[in-house]
Amino acid sequence: MAASKSLLESLKKPEPTNFKMTDFRRELHLRHKREEHMKKERLKAQQESRYVPKYAITIDTSRARSNNDVLRMCIRELGFKEYPFGRKDNSCDVHWHAIHYEDNPDVYGGKVNKFPGMGEICSKMTLFRCLDTLRDLFPTEYDFYPRTWYLPAQFHEFSCEIRKLHERRVKPKPTFIIKPDTGAQGDGIYLLREPNEYSSYNGKCHVAQEYMSNVYLIDKFKFDLRIYVLLKSLEPLEFYICREGLARFSTVPYENPTNKNIHESFMHLTNYSLNKRSSTFNRSEREDEGSKRTLSSVLRRIAMNGHDSNKVWKSIERIVCRTIVAIVPEMKVEYQAAMPPGKSGASCFQVLGFDILLLHNLKPVLLEVNASPSLSLDSEQEVAPGVFEYVHSPKDEEIKFPLIRDTLLHVVPMEKLKYYRKRKRKRMLRKLKASTSHKTKRPEPLVKQRTSIVIIKADESDEEKREVNVTQQMSEMHMDLDHSVVSQGESTGRDTVSDDERESSLKFDTDIDEEVDNYYENKLKESCLKQLYPAIYDEECERFRILERVAGLFIYFLGIRGSLRIGPTGFRTFARKCRLNRKGMTNAAVDIMYIDLQRRWDHMNPERTSGLCYQGFLDACMEIARRKFYAPTKIEMLENLADHCELSLNLKDNDLANNLPRLHFRRLGLQYRQGSMFAMPRRVIEMTEETTIEDLLTTQEKKLRQASKEDIEAFLRKRRMTYQPTSAASLLGGTKSPNSE
Ligand code: ADP
Repeated sequence: MAASKSLLESLKKPEPTNFKMTDFRRELHLRHKREEHMKKERLKAQQESRYVPKYAITIDTSRARSNNDVLRMCIRELGFKEYPFGRKDNSCDVHWHAIHYEDNPDVYGGKVNKFPGMGEICSKMTLFRCLDTLRDLFPTEYDFYPRTWYLPAQFHEFSCEIRKLHERRVKPKPTFIIKPDTGAQGDGIYLLREPNEYSSYNGKCHVAQEYMSNVYLIDKFKFDLRIYVLLKSLEPLEFYICREGLARFSTVPYENPTNKNIHESFMHLTNYSLNKRSSTFNRSEREDEGSKRTLSSVLRRIAMNGHDSNKVWKSIERIVCRTIVAIVPEMKVEYQAAMPPGKSGASCFQVLGFDILLLHNLKPVLLEVNASPSLSLDSEQEVAPGVFEYVHSPKDEEIKFPLIRDTLLHVVPMEKLKYYRKRKRKRMLRKLKASTSHKTKRPEPLVKQRTSIVIIKADESDEEKREVNVTQQMSEMHMDLDHSVVSQGESTGRDTVSDDERESSLKFDTDIDEEVDNYYENKLKESCLKQLYPAIYDEECERFRILERVAGLFIYFLGIRGSLRIGPTGFRTFARKCRLNRKGMTNAAVDIMYIDLQRRWDHMNPERTSGLCYQGFLDACMEIARRKFYAPTKIEMLENLADHCELSLNLKDNDLANNLPRLHFRRLGLQYRQGSMFAMPRRVIEMTEETTIEDLLTTQEKKLRQASKEDIEAFLRKRRMTYQPTSAASLLGGTKSPNSE
């Protein structure tokens, strides 16, 4: 009854008379969206159902966004398998995210091209705070970035500094640059000379920096350098620098800042995204011309002007190393929060963009580190007044394509990659031989060398094409095939295989193995990425890594797994377990210190989560070290505190073996031994039977060996250990390892 009633009502309903055009458009839009969605789903299903060889290297590009063009080119070149919509089970070898690690939090294996929390760590405030901490400990080594104030928290100090400079009548009048904490592409940046010109609207945080006015100019223009760095792994630390980069030029000839030109952003800022809007932007595609040039062309120009460009490059490498070492403790804290022990997760790598300015004396200055540098291959061009179009930029491709290709080669599982290539090569050659073996054999082969037809080309379709070409060539040349390979052929139809045949087939296998191994080794050698750490700067950076030990203590006492802040109980436990009370710190003093520091670091806690952040904990350690572990330098005080805490915790790994460089245990067929979280990963040394303990010692330990017996004993007593110098081979043979008491 009710149904018939509603039917009657619906029939009675008048036709919609006020049918609007907007409704129609919305309907059309929705239908279009639905169709798009269905198309995507269909494609996805097709892709899933397609056969993918088990050992193919798979790349998930579903979240690559603007990186897609360059990534796709590299994938094609390397012969990997792309998943533009991801995989249902998220089981790709590499997951490429455009922005954050958190773009896809459901990744439980493979590698992700972002470290957790890296966006936050590379924000201007956090980055310069990390650098400030190390500048405090190593003032001369960490003098490669401008003096920085954090606003509004340090507004008072900032204005006092300006007033002081005015009183001293410093010439030229000092200028400062204000940058929003999380800004990018020159957004919200301005110069000022008086503190009252600072405006903090919306309660946004800013950094204020001294403006570096005496910069090196090329063709009268200011420029900065974009250096690409691949951070391959955190534990053990390993990173590479790209030999090629970009130089971004301003578009108005540079003049020292005056009250008149202080607002001219096309003169003082070098951001590409900003200057491309300038009418004087030069789009020349020649590498040493235009408003965007290659790094190598700039270095060449510097050399042509009679300066030492190698020295400039070395200084840039040092800046990169010291900056990465400064952010590693923060990264470790973030990493353990995203992937606490016990939770399976992806391992990470990241391409970073370092912005570097050259001063007039060619001293490089770090301006910022970009966690997601632009990898776009397009540049904007004004085709008509006010109408912009994206066009392909060969200059960008020349730099970004090798960078991403070599990054992928470095991070994909190499054994899997080689295995897949070898199988493919073998199958291809066998097929080739099988197909040619039943052709009429000529008595005198023109080409007998099977290896002369080596093709390891990434693109599958290319490979197939080449395969056809080779087959044609071979038949044209009446080429006979190596007997060894024919014997391997699947269509030979023989069951019994002679010893000779078996031997030659073995040779065939090893030949291909060698060929593929060599191919990839050469590829990595020719790579545009050069290893900085640990290969070159290991020894030099070792002393800057003290803060990792403090980060280790912080992580140890966090209490709640996956947390980023230490609570009052955790802090008290830290004081108790590290026996700080024996050093005269009462429980009350510990509590007061915690409350005081929590208040001081509250501005770093916009979400108002309870607890003390890592920077606050570091502050606490500095304070405790100053009060209770006094030594002539800050670094020694901190080292004393770290030693004391580690010994009090009686870590089972706290022996000399742990201080030895990380070894290639796996290569020797031994089980890999995970170091304690406090151990700093050192050099990686390949062990042979001839390696002695001398080769494994660090500089500090070598010095100790030259020291007097008493000194050594004192050192060992302090570290609670004894050791007998012995050969590394016996050390690894499981006989006598350096033992702790
Ligand atoms: P963003 O993240 O918005 O690009 P940057 O820190 O890279 O901000 O600064 C933008 C531009 O401002 C730089 O490319 C550089 O030309 C200029 N700049 C930034 N800091 C300074 C400084 N301390 N001295 C001189 N120029 C600077």
